Amino acid sequence: MQNRCDVIVVGAGPAGSTAARYAAEVGLDVLLVDKKREIGLPVCCGEFNASPAVLAQALPNAPGLDELFPIDPGLVRRTIRGAIAISPKGREYEFDLSGYTIDRDAFDRHLADAAVREGAVLSPDTTFLGREGRRVRTSRGDIEAGVVIAADGPLSTVCRSVGMERSAVLAPAITCRVDGEFGDRLRLFFGSSVAPGGYAWVFPKRGCANVGLGVQRPATPVPILLRAFLSHNGFAARDIQAGFVPVSGPIRETGRENVLAVGDAAGHVVASNGGGIATAMICGRLAGLAAAKHLLHGEPLEAYEREWRSAIGRELLAAARTKRMADRVLGSDFLLEGAMSLLDGRGIRNVIVFGGLQGR
Ligand SMILES: Cc1cc2nc3c(=O)[nH]c(=O)nc-3n(C[C@H](O)[C@H](O)[C@H](O)COP(=O)(O)OP(=O)(O)OC[C@H]3O[C@@H](n4cnc5c(N)ncnc54)[C@H](O)[C@@H]3O)c2cc1C
Repeated sequence: MQNRCDVIVVGAGPAGSTAARYAAEVGLDVLLVDKKREIGLPVCCGEFNASPAVLAQALPNAPGLDELFPIDPGLVRRTIRGAIAISPKGREYEFDLSGYTIDRDAFDRHLADAAVREGAVLSPDTTFLGREGRRVRTSRGDIEAGVVIAADGPLSTVCRSVGMERSAVLAPAITCRVDGEFGDRLRLFFGSSVAPGGYAWVFPKRGCANVGLGVQRPATPVPILLRAFLSHNGFAARDIQAGFVPVSGPIRETGRENVLAVGDAAGHVVASNGGGIATAMICGRLAGLAAAKHLLHGEPLEAYEREWRSAIGRELLAAARTKRMADRVLGSDFLLEGAMSLLDGRGIRNVIVFGGLQGR
């Protein structure tokens, strides 16, 4: 492996690959490392992305949406035309939601390939071990880097290495695949026996669905909750994977010394629904551009924090606030049943998709 670079990006998920693409595009020497042997595998995601139109509505100040989205149509596994929220008693609330499901492994590889096409060097099977100043230790040797981008997910060791906090609340989540045809609507199931403090989902793909659930501090481990959900619905699962979703909003400080945090590492997730692919890419672009402006024009790295906050900070904070309020209701099936009936489809859509910001 090379022994110096302008920018080392740790983590080739949506945040890291997008950051690497934008830093490499302007001619910087970029190294993109990931501990995974095969980028994108194993898949631990619901694999749903909102459409560019919904993203533009939900994140009106986010720059670069038309560059980042829409994605290559070949990556779409099912066009989604709506969603149904199912209450603890089984009442159904339908709402509009356009988007698409993907194969997340192919999607991540596509983003990493885009970075490589711009000149980034991709080094899989390479684990970040630690850093002191510009010296970064990896499982393939040490490397000197001008800027380090922490895109290593919710348990970020890069953030820890520079004393930056991690997301305060990590919600356990689990996912699997179930074969069959499931139409073109997302189904979200609520209730304490299904997914206490969160929801279970069935997201249709081609010939199968992504089925999973995310919860808040469960008394029952998520594999057991998933098994119960699968058997209740007569589903046979394959490819089960569990992980964490940061749901307490962005961390307080996303830049320190020469390190920028992005994506799940920075808490860039819409806490009211747990989605973080699009926000990781939006902030990844800003991190890559900030690293480039710093190294090429001497602009301070602190600009990154200001830029992502003015792009999507208000929406991420609102979604985290809405999630905290919803947690009180999600703790009781009685309150949840009442709240869902009061909100109806449109209100539920506002809470989940727009973090409560769009009004009814
Ligand atoms: C079960 C589940 C379902 C979800 N469903 C959805 C959904 O449907 N839609 C949506 O938008 N979001 C969803 N999310 C959230 C979404 O997956 C994340 O927000 C998104 O992946 C964030 O991208 P990222 O690049 O920041 O991090 P990641 O995609 O987690 O990428 C981090 C990368 O860093 C690498 N890495 C970690 N540590 C090291 C190290 N020490 N050295 C080298 N590499 C390292 C990892 O291997 C990984 O490839 C879900 C999350 C979970 C857990």
